[in-house]
Amino acid sequence: MKNAELLFVPAPMVGHIVSMVELAKLLLDRDDRLSITVLVIKHPADPIANTVVQNVVSSDARIRHVDLPEMEPPPEEMAVKSPENYFATYIKSYRSHAKHAIVNSVLSSDSGEAPALAGIVFDFFCSSMVDVANDLGAPSYLFYASGAGFLGINLYYPIREILVGREYTLLDPDSVVSTFATPVPARVMPTAAFNDDGYRSFVEHGKKFRETKGMIINTFAELEAYAVKALESDPDLPPVYTVGPLLAPQKEHAGKEEIINWLSEQPPSSVVFLCFGSQGAFEAPQIHQIATALERSGHRFLWSIRWPSSLTISENQILPAGFLERTKLRGKVCGWTPQMEVLAHRATAAFLSHCGWNSTLESMWHGVPMVTWPIYAEQQANAFQLVKELGLAVELRVDYRRTQDSENVVMAEEIEKAIESVMEAENPVRKRAKEMGEMSRKALKEGGSSFISLQHLIEDIIHNIKLC
Ligand code: UDP
Repeated sequence: MKNAELLFVPAPMVGHIVSMVELAKLLLDRDDRLSITVLVIKHPADPIANTVVQNVVSSDARIRHVDLPEMEPPPEEMAVKSPENYFATYIKSYRSHAKHAIVNSVLSSDSGEAPALAGIVFDFFCSSMVDVANDLGAPSYLFYASGAGFLGINLYYPIREILVGREYTLLDPDSVVSTFATPVPARVMPTAAFNDDGYRSFVEHGKKFRETKGMIINTFAELEAYAVKALESDPDLPPVYTVGPLLAPQKEHAGKEEIINWLSEQPPSSVVFLCFGSQGAFEAPQIHQIATALERSGHRFLWSIRWPSSLTISENQILPAGFLERTKLRGKVCGWTPQMEVLAHRATAAFLSHCGWNSTLESMWHGVPMVTWPIYAEQQANAFQLVKELGLAVELRVDYRRTQDSENVVMAEEIEKAIESVMEAENPVRKRAKEMGEMSRKALKEGGSSFISLQHLIEDIIHNIKLC
């Protein structure tokens, strides 16, 4: 019998919503006392994200969703100064709508007994929903779509704020963060931390995370053993639940067959896959350097290129003259790729990636070693962790970030060197990644670390209702 209602508040961002809804499905699979309603907030400026959100929340008939009325977004200047602060401010404006929807649509019942409010599970950017939970006397839980390492950085910001009282500069000393064995250099902090508004909004999130009844992380204990232990052993933090990897279900893509057929013609473990996430577009000079590196390296490659909106010309005009012709027997250039299937393919040997957390988990799931080229969000910290702490990736860059600077180009020699390194059969990252692939599958199986952690989460959710 269903009697415990969980409210999910995801951020309308492609990389966040999918894993959160996967968590909802897992919870429903595991305990039939739970029911779940997603409160849907529309992205103010990204229609593609809104379509994805609608598709994802409608993908399982067991999950209800309520569309919250659209709010006026904050002034554009705020987004120019800090997109992160703009977004958090926008979400904050939904607090009263969220409360209203919970009380009037979700908990009201025409047919007898209303379900108990088991809590609000919110995404990183929706930490202001802790106020709604507090108002309703209900528990709140953070769903963290990135790893435990970066969560430690988020939780560290309020501490640093007391000590330092201002945003980061590149000259700042390394930060001693509990989830990293190595002090974390300022150069791998997210761009938002270098901006007063962005930093303050991150400090605010970190404080709210500490007010919750639990932090649910899309990771598994074996992947981030040090970081997870650090969070678990801190008596000032809420309990931690590592329930991942929560991976996106396979989707149909136009052009998928052609890519997979091409891969199937390549020898086992011979192809370097390059893909930079949903927003990883490079300008023409950078594309040129990548092409040169691929040509010189002589390895097979599958390269997913996202063209920046500033470029309206075709790939033939951007890539070095004759590149496609000269590499046609060993390389393929494409747009959006079926990444999970590519990583699963026996021909794929290495993944040159922007180190988005979903991409990282997907690479590990398939035991594919990575080469790090972070671009935006928390990717620099992920790259640093993958190279310095986990030994799962070859360093190309850990501190690259998107800037307006036209000199900000990674040169072909560097790219070629990193590709050579990851393709060396004896490189220990290859063995480590393979082992991690096995561990990630074990974690989800009955008796595995994530399976058990999810059970603890469910028990605690039920227990916490009784306390409130
Ligand atoms: N993705 C894909 N094909 C592409 C680019 C990305 O399927 O060509 C998927 C990828 O498998 C992952 C997600 O999009 O699930 C990207 O998420 P991630 O957190 O790695 O990066 P983001 O796009 O959020 O920066």
